[in-house]
Amino acid sequence: RSKSEGPGRATIFDTSMHDRVRERIELEGALRTALVEGQLSVVYQPIVRLETGRPIGAEALVRWNHPQRGPIPPMTFIPVAEDAGLIGTLGTWVRNEALSQLATWRADGTVGDDFYLSINVSPRQLSNAELPLIVAGELLQHGVPAAAVALEMTESVMADGGSVTARVLYELRELGLKLLVDDFGTGFSALGYLRRFPVTGVKIDRSFVSGLGESGEDEEIVRAVVAMSRALGLSIVAEGVETRVQRDALAAVGVTQGQGWLWGPGVAAGDFATHWGARRYAPAPPG
Ligand code: C2E
Ligand code: MG
Ligand code: MG
Ligand code: MG
Repeated sequence: RSKSEGPGRATIFDTSMHDRVRERIELEGALRTALVEGQLSVVYQPIVRLETGRPIGAEALVRWNHPQRGPIPPMTFIPVAEDAGLIGTLGTWVRNEALSQLATWRADGTVGDDFYLSINVSPRQLSNAELPLIVAGELLQHGVPAAAVALEMTESVMADGGSVTARVLYELRELGLKLLVDDFGTGFSALGYLRRFPVTGVKIDRSFVSGLGESGEDEEIVRAVVAMSRALGLSIVAEGVETRVQRDALAAVGVTQGQGWLWGPGVAAGDFATHWGARRYAPAPPG
């Protein structure tokens, strides 16, 4: 350390920078270990039909339970995975976990043929020209039809993505996967990409859902999204639905699918089958 290092502003800044860099490097190392040692898991959050509350799909969400630090949120480690070049490995792991689970559920009747599993993909993954071929192989390997799988991506993918990303999206769509715009409305105001890219649906960000019932403006925004989605033939899911007031306001403007704590958070596969499996809705056996 240099002798001139004093308690000045620059030093404080340098120290906190230094801490953040070290934290990043530590997290990166820990994430490599996590991938190898199986510390990651996937939870499944139901996506329901608003009128019935019955599941029509689920979103796969990755979880990391660090042996010493406890749960680390995806918002913390996904960006690290992207910067460290680990998102491909992580994404492949999540997809195979989720697809194998979906295959099991389809085979044992936990979910029906029309149930879809939605998987998040980050921009880096979609800039890999090999992704469609890889995904096609995984679908075959697990025996899952492409139509039962949705990929969720943020608007920035379409705003910033180059020609490779565009081609990847067209090839994925060609395979038959659903392509959903996640956090719709938060990223990118020009809507032209909805026509330029083979998107099949949007997920209205929870920031527009939270004010429903209180904010007339949010209601107008959701109404406009519904009108636009209908005109373009896109599906709509409302994210982050926490209250019945929000659910009713969504239904009133024509939204039919929702996801959020009103119905339940993401849960481990076994709990999903128990709480959201088709058996729960089967008519009671006689006697
Ligand atoms: P997202 O894809 O928009 O996922 C929805 C997030 O909202 C999830 O947070 C979910 O637990 C949370 N959520 C669900 N219902 C409610 C609600 O009613 N109220 C509130 N306040 N929150 C709700 P989570 O699991 O922490 O994931 C955060 C983000 O991390 C995801 O946002 C997604 O962008 C990313 N992510 C998660 N899993 C993966 C993955 O496997 N791969 C990639 N690339 N990204 C992932
Ligand atoms: Mg998502
Ligand atoms: Mg989302
Ligand atoms: Mg989100």
